[in-house]
This record gives sequence, C-alpha cells and structure tokens, in this order.
Amino acid sequence: MAESSPGFETLQIHAGARPDPATGARQVPIYQSTAYVFRDADHAAALFNLQEVGYIYSRLTNPTVSALQERMAALEGGAGAICASSGHAAQILALFPLMGPGLNVVASNRLYGGTVTQFSQTFRRFGWSTKFVDFDDLDALEAAIDENTRAVFCESIANPGGYITDLDAVSAISDRHGIPLVVDNTTASPYLCRPIEHGATLVVHSMTKYLTGNGTVTGGCVVDSGKFDWSASDKFPSLSQPEPAYHGLKFHETFGPLSFTFHAIAVGLRDLGMTLNAQAAHYTLMGIETLSLRMDRHCINALKVAKWLEADPRVGTVTYAGLESSPYYNRMARICPKGASSLFTFSLKAGYDACVKLIDNVGLFSHVANLGDARSLIIHSASTTHRQLSESQQIAAGVAPDVVRLSIGLEDPADLIADLDQALTKACGS
Ligand SMILES: *Cc1c(COP(=O)(O)O)cnc(C)c1O
Repeated sequence: MAESSPGFETLQIHAGARPDPATGARQVPIYQSTAYVFRDADHAAALFNLQEVGYIYSRLTNPTVSALQERMAALEGGAGAICASSGHAAQILALFPLMGPGLNVVASNRLYGGTVTQFSQTFRRFGWSTKFVDFDDLDALEAAIDENTRAVFCESIANPGGYITDLDAVSAISDRHGIPLVVDNTTASPYLCRPIEHGATLVVHSMTKYLTGNGTVTGGCVVDSGKFDWSASDKFPSLSQPEPAYHGLKFHETFGPLSFTFHAIAVGLRDLGMTLNAQAAHYTLMGIETLSLRMDRHCINALKVAKWLEADPRVGTVTYAGLESSPYYNRMARICPKGASSLFTFSLKAGYDACVKLIDNVGLFSHVANLGDARSLIIHSASTTHRQLSESQQIAAGVAPDVVRLSIGLEDPADLIADLDQALTKACGS
C-alpha cells in the first residue's frame, strides 16, 4: 500500500463507511432490503449485463455488506472482497472458480479440523481432490503440485495454534507453478498478518472469530489480491474464457484486477447463494472498529497465560508461537511481527482423562467450539472439533488426545491463570 494511504487503525473504522447519502446517518445502516428499484428499463438491463455496477437483489449485493467488503479489502491490501455466510462458505466461494471435476488442491496438513473434513470428504463429491502435505517440507509441497492442481491452500497461523506458515517460501513455489495461493487468515486477522504482502492470491476469513470478536455472528469473506494473471495459462477458463451466462463475457479481460471479485458475485453468489445478511455485516463492521486494540490485548494475555503454563510441572508442551521455546518464534518476526494471536494448545502429562476433568472444572473459561471471542474459551479438540479425524490426522494437526486448546480472551490474565490453576489441581490431583 502507498505510504500516503491511511493507517490500519484509521481504515478499520473508516474504510467502506461514509455518511448515508439519504439520511446522513454516521454509522453504516442495516439495509434490510431484498431488492432495489431500477431507474428505468435501460438501467435494469445494464445492471443485469454487468455493464454498470449497482444494486439489484441482496443475494448478489447489499449496501451494508458492500461497506464490509470494502473495509476487508482495505485491511488486507486487496483489490476487492466478497462476503459469504460463513468461513466455510467463503472457502467454497474462493475455490469454485478455480476448480472442476478431476482437479486438485494442495493443502497444508495443519488446518482447522472442519476444513480438513470439508476438503477431504465433501469436496470429493464435486470431483475435487485434496493432497495434504507438511508445508514445512518444501520439496514435498513442490512435488505434490501436478498438472491438475488449481490451488495451494494453507492457514497463516494454523488452527489449533502455535504454527506459523512460511508464506514467503510457499508463495515462491505456487508462483513458480502459476497456481494461486489461498491463505486462511482467520487466526491472525489482517492486523497481525497480511498474506497478500507475502504472495497470497486470495485470502479467506471466518469473520465469525476475531473480526467480529464477540461470538455473535457467523460470516466469511474472500479477499482478492487482484494480482493473479488468470489468462497466463488455460488452467482457469471460468475467469479467462467466455462466460455463456453473460453473453460470452470474459471476466479477466473485462474486469482486470477485479475479475475474481466480479465473478464471485455474478456467478458464485448468484448460483451458490451463500450470501451474508445485512445484520451480520453490521455486527462485523462494529467488531472490526476495535480489531487492532483487541488483537494487541489478545496477544499480551495469551503470552502471559502461555508462559505460566510452560512453567507449571503438570503441563507438558505449550505450543504458543510467541514463546521463545517455540520452533516458529523466529518466523513470527517475518510473518506476524505484532504477535502470534491467542490460540494455542498445551498437553497434560496426566493424559486424556485429566484433559476431560480440566474442561469440566474450569469456571471462567467457557467450554465451546469457537475461537477469537472476547471471552476465554477452552476445548478438548480430539473429542470435539477434530473428532472426525483419525488419530494420526489428529496428531499431524496438533491435537493429540492429551492436548487442550485455549483461545485467550480479553479478561484480566491473572483471573484466567487462577481459573486454570484451580482446575488443573482438580484434574491432576495436586
Ligand atoms: C472457524 C474457522 C473456519 C470456518 O469458519 P465458519 O465461520 O465456522 O464457517 C475456517 N477456518 C478457520 C481457521 C476457522 O477457525
């Protein structure tokens, strides 16, 4: 981004939001309207032909959602963004224009459990396959890319925490093969990591987590860097070839850096229909206004709790990448220099049963399947979010049976430590 452009803290409040032209309302109104009146028949025809940009129907575009899209594109440094009804919907929206039957995604083996299931089970029914690879093994990553690969997919800070992907090294490989790199930036948020600056083509988010920040909304987003040349090969015909549903329009030729964004709205949302609603967009805009403040505090609190756990004799390993003992500590300085977010795991020397007892004895921590909330959250992934995975997949994903995952919130960290201490005493017998 140019040096004269506004800082992150300014953009998180102002990007995409301007006083409402009808009323002067300073906050972004919730445009609770399904449809928008056309000026006349010519205007309607121009909108439907994508010759003019405007509002038609809220499955495609809505003014509240548009404000959020503009803000997300600004925060990630992208050309455009498209919101979706959930993080998982955003992943489908991101991959849909790239993929087709017989084609594959090369994905990191360190991913949110739900993503592993979506990719390995449900995508198969579209005829898409996924090759899961250890992204620290760059030779294995390169070897996995074949002539049918259409995307490389990873998380910047990978759920369940403690692992930071070397996005610079991964994008050098995807670039060499002319394949887009799709990065799930949910755990980092654009405040801690900006994947486009490390070579990402598309950035996907579950806005359900840190972006909204208080556990009130389910939403997702795809941000397009606008930098990928979809016409450089014949691998991406949805974007480079004539689209029959729009009288032979070629998206890349017509819309340039906004071609993915236009395609995702005009074809993706139109036909797949995983649209974000205006209320959810409004709540998410509210959340994003304080993103930088919250992420700074999430990181400070997580480091305090992780350090305390690391020094406790009942605890085995603590995976927080912000700890100097982490193998990913040095990578943090390059990929997410402001901090390692607040998601990490720790293991209990007393094993599986003690983990279950710990969860049943916490008071301040909530036992829920979510992360990135103002409230601190705890979960035993092996018996919940990663339950569908085999034990070897669980271990590869960092959630072995003796491992508990924490999402550290914004409370006083002394209270969080006291709560863990009393629950550990009950779980471990001393
Ligand atoms: C939660 C999550 C998702 C899925 O998002 P939903 O909003 O729950 O659909 C994807 N990736 C990561 C890293 C997540 O934490």
